[in-house]
Amino acid sequence: MTKVCTKCGVEKDVEEFYRNKARKSGVGVYCRCCVKIIRSTDAVKESRKEYAKKYYTKNKEKIIASTRKYYEENKEHLYQKKKERWGGSEEYKKKRKISYHKNKNKLLRRQKKWYDENREEIIARRKEKRDLNPSTKANERFSSHKAYLSKKLDIKRSEIPEILIEAKIHVLDARKKIKSASD
Ligand SMILES: [Zn+2]
Repeated sequence: MTKVCTKCGVEKDVEEFYRNKARKSGVGVYCRCCVKIIRSTDAVKESRKEYAKKYYTKNKEKIIASTRKYYEENKEHLYQKKKERWGGSEEYKKKRKISYHKNKNKLLRRQKKWYDENREEIIARRKEKRDLNPSTKANERFSSHKAYLSKKLDIKRSEIPEILIEAKIHVLDARKKIKSASD
């Protein structure tokens, strides 16, 4: 008996597929070869992620310093590039809008998952960034949100948990992103 692998599309003997009791056919939809490839790339991805995380933790100061140096040295160039990309032609904007709408739900889900999984780290990194550049817009924004919340909740600024402000800013940014894409 043979079966077509839904991954590589090759017709192979059923012996070439792993058993899978949950399926009517009794075997999986991917052939053994394809399963092996999928498994090994997953493992590679996972170990790369682990490595990157470790590397970042170990070299944090160095990375931040060099990123900052690069930014300072290439500010103009980076700004131009960004402008070209995002401020660009109407056609580009249209394309971006279409692709955004097509993938909106997927993007939102992925973003939420990523945020939930990395919340602590995201907040810590944003704080680091703000501490490095006390005069940036991000900092202004942060303190104006702090002031607003302190007034609204009627508590001292110093008593507002930073996580609350970060979460608020995150929500606002996400909303803005959705709005700008649907305009
Ligand atoms: Zn296959």
